Amino acid sequence: MRRRKISNAIIVINAGSSSIKFSLFADETRQLELFLKGQIEGLRTDNAHFIARHPAGDVVGERHWTGPEAGAFDHDAATRFLMAFINTHLEGHVVEAVGHRIVHGGGDFTAPAALNAAALDRLATLVPLAPLHQAHNLAPARSILATTPGLFQVGCFDTAFHATQPPLAQAFALPAEITDRGVRRYGFHGLSYEYIASQLPTLGLGDAKVIVAHLGNGASLCAMDHGRSMASTMGFTAVEGLPMGTRSGTLDPGVLLYLMDEMHMGPRDLEKLLYQRSGLLGVSGISSDMRTLETSGEPRARLAVDLFTYRIGREIGSLAAAMGGLDALVFTAGIGENSAGVRAAVCGHAAWLGLEMDDGANAHPQPGAHRLSTPSSRVSAWIVPTDEELMIARHTRRLLTGATP
Ligand code: AMP
Repeated sequence: MRRRKISNAIIVINAGSSSIKFSLFADETRQLELFLKGQIEGLRTDNAHFIARHPAGDVVGERHWTGPEAGAFDHDAATRFLMAFINTHLEGHVVEAVGHRIVHGGGDFTAPAALNAAALDRLATLVPLAPLHQAHNLAPARSILATTPGLFQVGCFDTAFHATQPPLAQAFALPAEITDRGVRRYGFHGLSYEYIASQLPTLGLGDAKVIVAHLGNGASLCAMDHGRSMASTMGFTAVEGLPMGTRSGTLDPGVLLYLMDEMHMGPRDLEKLLYQRSGLLGVSGISSDMRTLETSGEPRARLAVDLFTYRIGREIGSLAAAMGGLDALVFTAGIGENSAGVRAAVCGHAAWLGLEMDDGANAHPQPGAHRLSTPSSRVSAWIVPTDEELMIARHTRRLLTGATP
């Protein structure tokens, strides 16, 4: 009797403060192929919502929870629900591993790593370095460890890609007794940058000096030389650098001293201000969402967008200096891939570097990676859609099979 071939699947989990996203990749022909994705949003609110779709967009499962039932829905309960759902929608596959996105790996985790109880405990000590993300990233892994201890789990870190930065790019000008505690610049969005780096050779940019602009709700820039991170706008925490949806980005540290002395703000007040009340939302007073700001006629909305693109322009100059030149600028993530207005303004700020945008290509980008600059532009500009989930699935499979990168 012929036995039916059973193929393997890898689950990728990306947990945020109020949502958990999952993707399911089939690992059949040594090609990882997405076959199901979904998310639960509104955890611990009065309105939680789950939806799962095939890549073509058709809905495979959907559910709402309201009132106290939704309020009791935390990361553990949501993970158990998702795993039960996935197990009944495997379409003949067998789950071989779960890969998790984890924002901070600190100084110890500079490459993807197997997650057991000891690793999760070590990663939990980094919660103060990423107060908005780390604990939530770890929660589903703990939940799966409790329910399915034999399932192989892998942590993939947003800091890891930046481990190649030269020591000077990682340093703060602080006394050794502080820097010796690990107070240094780490950099984030590393899974997105690593995916983009994997695409650069296909664009003829494998050995180029490239600045990648990851512009989403979180936003940062990364200077890459030969596909390796040389510097980034984010540092010790994911609040440094560019203004973001709700995060301030870089501030004069004297502002914090002023707020503590004159407005009697404590650490938690400052955390809320810097992470949740600033950036596009704080400046506009309207929204953290770029689509809303771009269609608003309010001058404060315009100011927020202008400040965002101005700061990106200044940081491009800084990162080009850190690399000693620039060959290409790549836009990615929600704003970078979709906002022609932001891309045009940023490229305008980079014109002095020799970047000449093709307005038609910018206004009507093609699907997939796409060039935005004129053929004669000295510095080229591109959209490259990012895929952090695929990057996590690749790492997870590599650890599972023991293959070298
Ligand atoms: P991300 O965090 O990568 O999902 O990106 C979220 C950001 O992308 C939000 O500020 C959205 O407003 C923005 N975004 C998504 N689609 C568009 C669009 N078509 N035009 C402008 N901004 C967009």
